[in-house]
Amino acid sequence: MQRRKFIRTAAVGGASVAAAGTLAAPAIAQSAPELKWRMASSFPKSLDTIFGSAEIFTKYVSEATDGKFQIRLFAAGEIVPGLQVADAVQNGTVEMGHTASYYYVGKDLTFALDCAVPFGLNARQQDAWMNWGGGRQLMNDFFKDYNIHSMPCGNTGGQMGGWFRKEIKTVDDLKGLKFRVSGFAGEVLTKLGVVPQQLAGGDIYPALEKGTIDAAEWVGPYDDQKLGFNKVAQYYYYPGWWEAGPQLSAYVNTTKWAELPKSYQAIIEAAAAKAHTSMLSKYDAQNPKAVRELVASGTKLMPFSQPIMEACYNATNELFAALNEKNPKFKKVFESWKPFRAEETLWFRVVENTMDNFMARLSAANKL
Ligand code: CA
Repeated sequence: MQRRKFIRTAAVGGASVAAAGTLAAPAIAQSAPELKWRMASSFPKSLDTIFGSAEIFTKYVSEATDGKFQIRLFAAGEIVPGLQVADAVQNGTVEMGHTASYYYVGKDLTFALDCAVPFGLNARQQDAWMNWGGGRQLMNDFFKDYNIHSMPCGNTGGQMGGWFRKEIKTVDDLKGLKFRVSGFAGEVLTKLGVVPQQLAGGDIYPALEKGTIDAAEWVGPYDDQKLGFNKVAQYYYYPGWWEAGPQLSAYVNTTKWAELPKSYQAIIEAAAAKAHTSMLSKYDAQNPKAVRELVASGTKLMPFSQPIMEACYNATNELFAALNEKNPKFKKVFESWKPFRAEETLWFRVVENTMDNFMARLSAANKL
């Protein structure tokens, strides 16, 4: 019976090419619907590295669907303020967002593990944890409570510690320092006497110029140079130990995600992966020139001292311990993340650090 039926169907298809063509058309249309979505970015257009990677994302989705799936990108403030992108995705104001999860530590500090926590993973290690260490699954379990399906969509690489109007020689020099710094690091630094300040990117320069704040961190040489911080603060400290490899994320409203054909879901994943590597490589390509120019303009590159780094590390561990006590969601993710960090650091010590340190010595000796 089955075989007879198959032969009959095949014969009909073979007998009339035109009929087969009209039969196939609706199936294709159904699997590739015309969709128009909106994506809210947390960033201004001037950040061509971060905002630019979201443009790469939306362009890829459009091209891979022959223009059928259009995602229109909006800069911070155009639909919602930059720090409300998670809320906008959660309540369906927009289908998608491009953001840094640590902006939402006010809701729950667990968000930060999707982006960066102090003394966290570098960009490669973050990828390793997300893709192969269970990070994506754990984070998406957490994000379900916010109607968000999230995927990595960019990384800035290691960030700088920021611009300081005076030298920070000892841990005591941190006391009373008014420092524009993001949420989680701000909590750590509060333990050491810093007075953290929350300022949007455009407000940092005038505050630093007037001396309303003593120091400010933003991203790294390429982005910082464009904002002109070198004109109002001389000391440029490193490393930004709170952002060793902060990941940007693409958020999709879970209901909207579930409605997509599998092919469109796969295209979104591929577009995010492309934007992800594009952003990190752009930073790595642009930062060297910027740091050279900054130093030539009089900027003094200063490492945080080992006692300062250690005091910050200890304060971070106190905060982690308190969080594990009171926040079971944080604890669940942290229990995967912490041993992963230990293993990654052990492995990176063997080859990467050894090779990097050797090459760094050659660079310092001008032998490259
Ligand atoms: Ca930063």
